[in-house]
Amino acid sequence: MQARAAGAFALAMLLSPSVSPTQPPGPSAAAESSGLPAGANVPGGFVVIPLEAGGADRPTASFNGRRVLVIPDGEGYAAIVGIPLKTAPGEQRIAARGATRKTYPFQVEPKRYAEQRLTITDTRKVNPNPEDQARIAREMKRIAAAKAHWSEQEPDSLRLDLPARGRFSSPFGLRRFFNDQERNPHSGLDIAIGTGTPVLAAAAGTVIDTGDYFFNGRTVFVDHGQGFLTMYCHLSEIRVQPGDRVGRGERLALSGMTGRATGPHLHFSVVLNDTMVDPALFLPLPNSPPKAGAR
Ligand SMILES: [Zn+2]
Repeated sequence: MQARAAGAFALAMLLSPSVSPTQPPGPSAAAESSGLPAGANVPGGFVVIPLEAGGADRPTASFNGRRVLVIPDGEGYAAIVGIPLKTAPGEQRIAARGATRKTYPFQVEPKRYAEQRLTITDTRKVNPNPEDQARIAREMKRIAAAKAHWSEQEPDSLRLDLPARGRFSSPFGLRRFFNDQERNPHSGLDIAIGTGTPVLAAAAGTVIDTGDYFFNGRTVFVDHGQGFLTMYCHLSEIRVQPGDRVGRGERLALSGMTGRATGPHLHFSVVLNDTMVDPALFLPLPNSPPKAGAR
């Protein structure tokens, strides 16, 4: 019961007070009245879709064959659906199973993310040699497995705390060119902090994996439940192990610049249904100024 109440509270915080409880559930109603940050139903964002009540069991939902976070919403439930960056604008749909099977369409609006051009002096990090490529292929499997991790426990909140206080140096979604060569868009939020700064769990969860990767450097993955995960990269030192339970604000690691980084910073990613989404949508807004002595 406690988890249920906490989940409802989390959703209530995401939803605007103007939402009428008598409003018929429907994807367009959800998109228009949810009070989510503007443009959240875009590639790299997420949508909240109220699910038709039915049966005693919690409904399940999937998007593109991947399980989706479902949390209590008033008397019923809602699906929180992460939208991959490469999704074309237009209609998408989730499949849900409660008392009956049902699909729920929703609209994805276009969003054009800015470009970023970076010069990487370690050219191996831009054009990896064959040995590096073999390593990267192994690591991609491991990272993909962590990203796809599913646990049934419901997140205690969808609100995240800043994992470190510092300037947001690169937003999510930037189309990136390293030494003029286009690479994958930026899948997280960069926070500029000096090496050795404590990196804190953005919410309570379980450490599901740690590693030292070619691009991401030393990395920690935390599972908050039902496919809602956070990832912390370029760390200098990791202070937790897979299986550790961590509380919100608990120290996971120290920041650094391991992997492909032009300077010390924390790369912070948020995952929903195996999809990297914009961390800023879950963090306290507006962008609060760094506190003195944040380092
Ligand atoms: Zn980054």
